[in-house]
Amino acid sequence: MLQSVKIEDGESAPAASQAERTSLIGLELPELAAVLGPNQPAFRTRQLFDALYRQQVADLSEISSLPISLRNQILSCYSADLPAIEHRYDSSDGTKRYLLGLCDGRTVEAVLMPEETRDTICISSQVGCPVDCKFCLTALMGLERNLTAGEIIGQVLLIMRENGLKAADTRLNVVMMGMGEPLLNLDAVLKASRLLCDSTGIAISPKRITVSTSGIVPKMDELGRAAVRPKLAISLNASTEEQRQELMPITRKYHLAELMDACRRYPLRTWEKLTFEYVLLGGVNDSDADAKRVVRLLANLNCKVNLIALNPGPGIPFETPSDHRVAGFQAIVKASLPCFVRKPRGRDIFAACGQLKRVNTELVQVE
Ligand code: SF4
Repeated sequence: MLQSVKIEDGESAPAASQAERTSLIGLELPELAAVLGPNQPAFRTRQLFDALYRQQVADLSEISSLPISLRNQILSCYSADLPAIEHRYDSSDGTKRYLLGLCDGRTVEAVLMPEETRDTICISSQVGCPVDCKFCLTALMGLERNLTAGEIIGQVLLIMRENGLKAADTRLNVVMMGMGEPLLNLDAVLKASRLLCDSTGIAISPKRITVSTSGIVPKMDELGRAAVRPKLAISLNASTEEQRQELMPITRKYHLAELMDACRRYPLRTWEKLTFEYVLLGGVNDSDADAKRVVRLLANLNCKVNLIALNPGPGIPFETPSDHRVAGFQAIVKASLPCFVRKPRGRDIFAACGQLKRVNTELVQVE
């Protein structure tokens, strides 16, 4: 419930302590208007939006466009706080994994992967994950709770701030492939997407944001209907119904055949392709026969395939396939479809795909 601030000459609201202030990050224009109350003109809401999302002020006291009395009133109840960095783990390949504290004491992880031609921020959509993929460390946590839209975009804003990244820079990409199944928190993910893409705010193009799903079929349809939405990636990981049910139990509810139907009817924009992610597990789903079945499954879809050799982790009962096997699988798929091998990033700090479970590696103190 939003509390609007009372603005009357000479009146000062009792100040809330820092911890009691609600962050405005994650609110859209109508909610910010409700915070300001009915007596403020609409342009004040725009000024507040601009300060939060375009200027990305760290502290509401920095909003010089608002009158001091209004600013103080807002400050008495609200903040522009982002998740707090509890630890940062630095990989030898430049990847940084952030353990971020939320206001209820829970933690999530986000990862920055700098590369020669682009920077990718991988963010979480839930604390833990209910999907239970058998090759994923996050699955071992179960679901603790959904993140709010503010907590989702807060990860992006924080990593941008920490690393001097600019949204206008076409190097910047955001992927919702961290902890959680984004489509099981779709309302918050869509709200976060609108805020990330708003050209008067953070202004990241939807072409540079990707949301990844394990295949929640009804939510894929809902995502397809959204006016502002990121690109869609599907975590496939198997070439038969039976194999997928073993690796990804969610398939018992949303069958592979239904998933493929949902992909065929998904309303791609003119510039868009579906991405299929396929984690290769040595001796399990990485045979030539698997590769041929993947090609048949994806026939006639406008798509590309990303292969990821399993990133190992404690408690994960699978093996990483050899480079030779990965290349063999890729060659078969590539004969029919664009197919890439995703370079593992930050494996040494448990920052690679499927490795996010707040695993402690060498700690880097954050000043
Ligand atoms: S791979 Fe993704 S969807 Fe599957 S358990 Fe891990 S975080 Fe959840």
